[in-house]
Amino acid sequence: MEGYERPCIVVSRCLGFDHCRYNGLTIRSEAVDMMGSHVEFVPVCPEVEIGLGVPRVPVRIVRLGEDDRLVQYTTGRDVTEEIRLFADRFLGELGPVEGFVLKGRSPSCGLTDAKAYPSMDKVPPLGKTAGLFGREVIARYGERAVEDEGRLTNFRIREHFLTKVFTLAALRRVEASEQMRELVAFQARHKLLFMAYGQTGLRALGRIVANAKGRPWSEIIADYRDGLLRLFSRPARPTSMINVCLHAFGYVSDELVQEEKAHFLDVLEAFRVGKLPQSVPLTLLGSWVARFDVSYLAQQSVFAPYPQKLVEITDSGKGRGT
Ligand code: SF4
Repeated sequence: MEGYERPCIVVSRCLGFDHCRYNGLTIRSEAVDMMGSHVEFVPVCPEVEIGLGVPRVPVRIVRLGEDDRLVQYTTGRDVTEEIRLFADRFLGELGPVEGFVLKGRSPSCGLTDAKAYPSMDKVPPLGKTAGLFGREVIARYGERAVEDEGRLTNFRIREHFLTKVFTLAALRRVEASEQMRELVAFQARHKLLFMAYGQTGLRALGRIVANAKGRPWSEIIADYRDGLLRLFSRPARPTSMINVCLHAFGYVSDELVQEEKAHFLDVLEAFRVGKLPQSVPLTLLGSWVARFDVSYLAQQSVFAPYPQKLVEITDSGKGRGT
């Protein structure tokens, strides 16, 4: 598959774009580095945007009853309203965006694992929560691809994230075309991918395309986008992806020698038990589909839902099972 649309991804600025952490440092994220030339990043540092300098006194979340406040650690300065106002303005003015990669554990950018404290004293945290900017992102864009850089070190989470942002970006191009035939082609091209994510969701999208006659384009595409976001609300189940792989394998297996068939089934088993990412069996299948010129499968996005250069099989093991 050629010509990927570049997804727009909001990213924490400290993830390699600027030395804007409280201590003047920056953080490397291999996933962010790798995506670099394939996506449009929109870097943002909420703490710098509200006027906290670099270096600065760090902030922490202090839980006062039901209310989480963002407070500078030693000065006691409460910047909660500034962060909320900034988030409201920044997110309200964003153009079309497919995803977010935010810095984990940050009291501003964190999505799930920022520490909340009962006070400013040297006390243990009460538990983990979303940062003040991160929770606004979840509230407004939670159905998009929203991850922290730590979770993206897990290959299953990364594959889902990349599949989602590149497919949503491709849909953006269809949306701009305002051509029903483009949507029909999009649905056909993604059939196996959507099947791997869920038969029910695939059928729901199919019905929107089939029943489009007489409806305004804006309604059709809005319904279709909502359906796609629902389909992508969780990663494809390995068993569903294996079924799709076996379905495609059926079209090429007669052409393969015994060793190739056995190798493929070994690869599929390694994927099933979580030792290999889905890109390994899918890339193998894609190469056979091209070699044997299987026209029914040739255009299917499932074999390359995002650019080949982003296929990376290393895995931290973090988030396994999600
Ligand atoms: S985690 Fe967010 S607020 Fe903190 S330095 Fe990075 S971008 Fe800025």
